[in-house]
Amino acid sequence: MKNDREMIREKKRIVVKIGSSSLQHAQTGDLDYIRLDVLVRELCNLRNQGKDVALVTSGAIAQGRKAVNLTHSAMEENPIAVKQACAAVGQARLMMAYQKIFAEYNQVAAQILMTRHTVDDEMNRTNAQNTFEELFKLGVIPIVNENDTVATHEIEIGDNDTLSAVVASMIGADLLILLSDIDGLYTDDPRQNPNAVFVETVRHLDDSFMQMGKKSTGSTVGTGGMSTKLGAAKIATSSGADMIIANSSDIRIIHRIMDGRNFGTLFMAEKDETFNLSAFLEEMHDRKG
Ligand code: GLU
Repeated sequence: MKNDREMIREKKRIVVKIGSSSLQHAQTGDLDYIRLDVLVRELCNLRNQGKDVALVTSGAIAQGRKAVNLTHSAMEENPIAVKQACAAVGQARLMMAYQKIFAEYNQVAAQILMTRHTVDDEMNRTNAQNTFEELFKLGVIPIVNENDTVATHEIEIGDNDTLSAVVASMIGADLLILLSDIDGLYTDDPRQNPNAVFVETVRHLDDSFMQMGKKSTGSTVGTGGMSTKLGAAKIATSSGADMIIANSSDIRIIHRIMDGRNFGTLFMAEKDETFNLSAFLEEMHDRKG
């Protein structure tokens, strides 16, 4: 019998999420083209195996801020308008970079920008699902981000860990790979507690695991900590997708995972027909304030 990891090879529809900090040089905040290239090559290679692939990428705000030379402190005066303006500039730049590299591998890519409405409003959701389906039929890789330019606090999903799980749920993906700056889930924050133990597999995401996410990963660029990742795991697994949190320090980890090798933390799918995505997002939103 195949083990849990070997079963990963059989996955047919995969969502990969990458965060801003994994795409840029830490020293300058400029795009790291080598990492971007490796990411795109990995995704194209999955696509070439006949799998449906979607990418959820951050980086719009970070790249926009860089393009117009704004410092962190400049964002403090009117953070929302500045953030949204940066996203408008940065999203286009980000897509330009992706399009160029995908084209080098003869792969057509598309852009889908979402908000909470895309989930909550039935017509909107159905339209988005139909679009994803059509893109997969056409062999296209959709590149997804939140529509940060128009999403206000009240209607935002807020972070791309959650967004990627929402996408996985909406499109009926069977695997979500969350690339992060840590190896996976630990029983406590390993940067603060040397006795923290690495968790290889989570079969049932109960409260004891949800508690492990209390402390953040400490990244200054992205918005997701371990707590949002566990929220994402809840969405993905309840919707019937396995989810793996893995370290993006070497992006080739994607094909190693897809080869059935033991990297990161695997959260096993546990489909729950009663799971209500909109209600779950509302609850997460209220908790964050
Ligand atoms: N959507 C945001 C951006 O592209 C990032 C959100 C996140 O990193 O979680 O800048």
